[in-house]
Amino acid sequence: MFDAIIVGGGPVGQFLALAAARAGRHILLLEAKPAGAGFNDDRTLALSWGSWLMLQRVGVTEQLEPAATPILRIHVSQRGGFGRSELTANDGGVSALGYVIGYGDVQRALAQRVTASDVRYHTSVDGIDQVDDGVVVHAAGENIAARCAIVAEGGGPLVATLGFSQREKDYGVHALVARVRTDRSHDGVAYERFAAVGPLALLPRSDSFALVWTLAPDDAQAVLGLDDQAFLERLQRAFGWRAGRFIAVAERGAFPLVLRQSEPRVRDRIALVGNAAQTLHPVAGQGLNLGLRDAWLAAAHLPKLDELDRARRLDRAATVHFTDALAGIFANDWPGLSWARGLGLAALDLLPAARRTFARTLTLGRL
Ligand SMILES: Cc1cc2nc3c(=O)[nH]c(=O)nc-3n(C[C@H](O)[C@H](O)[C@H](O)COP(=O)(O)OP(=O)(O)OC[C@H]3O[C@@H](n4cnc5c(N)ncnc54)[C@H](O)[C@@H]3O)c2cc1C
Repeated sequence: MFDAIIVGGGPVGQFLALAAARAGRHILLLEAKPAGAGFNDDRTLALSWGSWLMLQRVGVTEQLEPAATPILRIHVSQRGGFGRSELTANDGGVSALGYVIGYGDVQRALAQRVTASDVRYHTSVDGIDQVDDGVVVHAAGENIAARCAIVAEGGGPLVATLGFSQREKDYGVHALVARVRTDRSHDGVAYERFAAVGPLALLPRSDSFALVWTLAPDDAQAVLGLDDQAFLERLQRAFGWRAGRFIAVAERGAFPLVLRQSEPRVRDRIALVGNAAQTLHPVAGQGLNLGLRDAWLAAAHLPKLDELDRARRLDRAATVHFTDALAGIFANDWPGLSWARGLGLAALDLLPAARRTFARTLTLGRL
């Protein structure tokens, strides 16, 4: 019998498969899509230094390295207010604050390491029953027995089908994403700029930046529809000149921002990890990083899940709170708050200990 069946072969499910195999567990990974389906997904991911170390432990960083852009500095500021702060790799005591990479690159590197006998592609799970000594997973007309099931299906309909409930907080804003270029090299600097509606982030990726721009829904649609020149001018006004002149834009898209949390996250012999357990606002780039930490601990606890929930509770709550607070504090435009934010950012720059804490939270995901 399998120690665990992992449902979903996204980055979290595949990483879990590798970490569990490394811990000597007998697992089976079931992925709905055909092999290689995610390799062309060019969505940008920010991997924290802590995630990088975990990926190193399962032997994939060598494959990731050519496609990964190291973040050497993060520049945090707010529009129309004073106060700014710089976090350097030195503040976190690490050689890079994190890495920026494509979803497809991560998927390909992980898939190369997952052993063929451990995975079945094109196999969608449509139900899981708990039985006395484990679970029976129903997939593609088959019933497969295991001691437990770890659901890493990204937050699709299966979570509700299994009887988990989902709490949702709609931030009422959209994230506009794109690839943009400036007339200067980025030198490994990431920018996080907070405006009235929410943050605007520029992440260095190859020879360009990945843009995540929080806008009111109507505005996001209007900006999405602008021609390239008008888009670049609008972005320049919103962001300023710190990164140089914006000269090109490609791959635009927009989606609504929500915080979605499943309850509970572990029930008897079924656990949820990654986006199936929680979907975060991308403001601090913590979503995948939290998911990888879910998977790392799940691998260490398999096949017993009763301790897993307790082991993950603090990290999850702290990361959700950190991300939510950043989104909330900076998305409010109450009188005086801009001053408070300015003071916060100035204090961050003046107080090495505060800056180190912030840097550690972003790089390692721990407060
Ligand atoms: C535009 C965008 C930008 C983002 N930027 C960042 C960022 O900068 N940093 C960051 O940390 N995170 C970011 N995220 C979030 C990040 O993409 C997710 O945290 C991450 O993909 C979650 O991984 P996962 O493996 O949990 O889920 P997914 O990547 O969604 O993978 C789930 C897998 O499960 C499979 N599946 C689904 N249902 C079934 C089923 N019934 N049976 C079998 N298989 C199934 C799917 O086919 C899929 O392969 C971003 C997200 C978006 C949309």
